[in-house]
Order: sequence, then structure tokens, then C-alpha cells
Amino acid sequence: MNFIDSHVHLADPAFDDDRADTVERARSAGALALLCIGESLDAARRAGDLAARHPGFCFHTAGVHPHDAADFDASRDLAGIRAELARGAVAVGECGLDYHYDHSPRERQRDAFAAQLALAAEQARPVVVHTREAEDDTRAMVSDAGRAGVRGVLHCFTGSHALARAALDVGWFVSFSGIVTFRKWGDDELVRLVPDDRLLVESDAPYLAPVPHRGRRNEPSYVPLTIERVAAIRHASPDALAGITAANARHLFGLA
Ligand SMILES: [Zn+2]
Ligand SMILES: [Zn+2]
Repeated sequence: MNFIDSHVHLADPAFDDDRADTVERARSAGALALLCIGESLDAARRAGDLAARHPGFCFHTAGVHPHDAADFDASRDLAGIRAELARGAVAVGECGLDYHYDHSPRERQRDAFAAQLALAAEQARPVVVHTREAEDDTRAMVSDAGRAGVRGVLHCFTGSHALARAALDVGWFVSFSGIVTFRKWGDDELVRLVPDDRLLVESDAPYLAPVPHRGRRNEPSYVPLTIERVAAIRHASPDALAGITAANARHLFGLA
């Protein structure tokens, strides 16, 4: 099946030994494109190098993850993100709020997220958003950004129906990862409430390998396992769902 992996950390050191082979395995598995996430400026630069090495197949993003928001420096980091956008990054992020791990103080997370949403508005680019146990603040900030014309995706989404609906209401997308294949996954209704034209799929590799690879390093060639599960939940054909989500990724991120 032909698919697009809308979220992969291919610049992560987990792929240092076999990054080129991982890209080739993704192609062989039917991938049409990989969106390589820059969750830090360092990662964004490496993801940008990957995009340059695989034009038309690897694309990249640039942002500062909520885990690192404590070190966010608006003038330095926004300039860095702007520079990556200027050399072809297709989106801002991943950025957002993570009150589960609380690796950075929440107020600093909100400041860094707000600054990146404002940059996305200024640059007219979509945003890749990470949110975990930060429902109210995410809903408020995404709704405000959406009303200001910013579009984006709630990636690897496992939150509430209310948050998904709030994002969908302002034109956003929702992306599902291998978590939907886990035995403990228990919210098929969430997977069904996202309309066809707002649905994305992702690996989030090297994390969250779908069953039966759970617990091992994840990679984009496993995305079809997630697509099969999402399709089963939605009573859709896997090939059709792969095509729809690929078209959505091309549309949201403007992939050539
Ligand atoms: Zn994330
Ligand atoms: Zn990520």
C-alpha cells in the first residue's frame, strides 16, 4: 500500500547505524514520503540534511519540543526555525504542551508554544503539535491559533474527544500512531470521530512500534500495520485509507 508517514524522528541517533537502509525499507514498504520531525534546532538541521539527500521523499520540520521549553530562547530559536523554513522546512514543530512528563515548567511550555504558533501564523505554515495531559491549555491555544488562520495536526493523538473536536472545528488534523494497535488501546470511537479529510497516520519512530514489533525500535516501514488497524476500526479498506491519509498529508504540508 502507498502511504505517507506524517511524523518520524529519522534524525534521531537511533537511526545512526542504518538511516539510509531505513529510508529504503520505507520505500519498499510503499512509502511515498516521510515527514522528518525537527524537535530541536539540532534535529531540524539534521532532518533538513536528510530532506536535501532525499528530495521529494524526505521533508522536514523545525521546532522546539515542550520537553525542552525551559531552554527556549525566543530570539535565538525563532530565528533558527525561520532559517530552516527558508531552506525548505514544511512546518513548524513539533511543539506543544506535555504536562505528563513536565520536563519543563508549564508556563515556559506555554510561552514556547505560543511563540511557535505566532511564528506559524506569520510564516503561513502548518504546525505539528504534541499534547499530553494538557487538555484545557491545548484546546485554548489551538482554538485561538485556528481562528487566526493557523492549520496544524495533533500528532500521535490519544487525548479526549473534546480536544479532538475543538481542533477539528478550527480546521485541524488528527494523527494516529502505532498506539492504536496496542492491546490496551480502548478508544476506537476517537479513531472514528475524525473525518476522512482530516485524518493522518504516523510512525513517531523510533518510538511506539506497532504490534507485533512493540518494544523494539520503530521505523516508517511499519506504518501499514497502523493503517490496517485504523482502517479496521473505521470499517474502511486499508489501501483506500492509505491513499486518503497520504493526500491529506500532501495537502496540509504542501508536499510536492
Ligand atoms: Zn510528540
Ligand atoms: Zn515526535
